Amino acid sequence: MKEGFRNQKLIFEEKKAIKLFLWLFYIIYFSFDFFYDYIYSFSNEKELKDLNDGLGLWQYFLLSSLLLIGVYFIKKGNPYIVKYLYIYGYIFFDVIDCLITYLGTSKPFASGNIVEILFIVFSPVFVNKKYFWTVTLSMIGKDLFLGLILHDYRALFPVLMFFIIGAIAFILLIRFNSYIDSLTNVYNELRQKEKLAVIGQMAAAIGHEIRNPLSSLKGFTQLQKERYPNTNDHYPIMIQEIDRINSIVNDLMYLGKPKRIKFDRARIEEIIAYTLSITQQQAKNQNVILETVIEGPLPAIECDEKQLKQVFINLIKNAIESMPNGGKVKINVKEAKEESMHISIQDGGCGISEESLLNLGEPFYTTKKEGTGLGLMVTNQIINDHFGNLNFLSEFGIGTKVEVVLPINQNLKR
Ligand code: ADP
Ligand code: MG
Repeated sequence: MKEGFRNQKLIFEEKKAIKLFLWLFYIIYFSFDFFYDYIYSFSNEKELKDLNDGLGLWQYFLLSSLLLIGVYFIKKGNPYIVKYLYIYGYIFFDVIDCLITYLGTSKPFASGNIVEILFIVFSPVFVNKKYFWTVTLSMIGKDLFLGLILHDYRALFPVLMFFIIGAIAFILLIRFNSYIDSLTNVYNELRQKEKLAVIGQMAAAIGHEIRNPLSSLKGFTQLQKERYPNTNDHYPIMIQEIDRINSIVNDLMYLGKPKRIKFDRARIEEIIAYTLSITQQQAKNQNVILETVIEGPLPAIECDEKQLKQVFINLIKNAIESMPNGGKVKINVKEAKEESMHISIQDGGCGISEESLLNLGEPFYTTKKEGTGLGLMVTNQIINDHFGNLNFLSEFGIGTKVEVVLPINQNLKR
């Protein structure tokens, strides 16, 4: 339904363009012919144009009948074909006219109508590369053909002019095209954002509903485990998986409505230490060593501690996950210029290709089999809420360095 609607608009645009072209075509064609053949010849006391020359009056008749066919196609809802009808029709009639007039006579070649320039100059208006090339090349081809057949170099003069005007028209066409492309991109981005907003709200609502049953499920599982400590060794896995669902649900809820930030003073060392305690087990399983360098003493920073923990858990997890065969993750914390804290997390993992770098932070963008593609989106959102900066330096196959810069005092940033 929408597709049809858009098509309709494009057809409407094409109709406007072709109507404008037709008006200009007939006005220019007839006024040029009139001016050139009668007024010009008359004032130069040359012979009046012989109406029996070439196609003579037939030319006017044929061009007028083109109009009838053109209007028929426009009415039938196929205006796209009309511009081709005119270029081919015009060239066909002109070649025949010239051949009849000049072939086998000694008359000097003096043909061509200024309307040929209109064809080329107007072609970018249709925003169609194929049409542009058709017009320019067939105009050039026509005069080359006439020059060769009639052995009259005068037929070649317009060729140079067509080249120059064609080049200008081509530049215009490219500009139009690139302008339209950017508009289309902006439009698509907007649509994408709108779609995400809806998905986000849905995800947040569903997430909210899942959270409560999930926490009672976890509570009862824990209870079972305590009650029958020796009967079922699946409990730890069950609890771990429930935690996993919980963290996915938390991330999803971020899509819809970012949480209110609660700023308090907190020590970055403690946040990092907590993060390491959470990620340690996963690192061990994958033979990854977490190495931390803290260039202290450091001032406490104004932040939402819980959310920053989430940020570093996400980033360190990503670093560990990028090294399936083990390795080292270096975490460095220091105070930087302009009252800010600088935290970097460097891994020697798979790295991120240039193409993927552009997609980082897009919801659901993941290259992992079990990934959600929500981690970096949430991370990015939290850091933005803190008026900080997140930066990725990566070399494919060599490793990635993630830099986080956070202001120490929030009031400075308002
Ligand atoms: P997920 O971890 O669920 O895939 P993220 O948003 O955390 O989602 O990450 C998105 C993608 O960014 C990952 O799938 C991965 O391709 C890439 N990525 C993020 N961090 C790193 C890293 N340290 N090394 C290599 N790739 C990374
Ligand atoms: Mg992740």
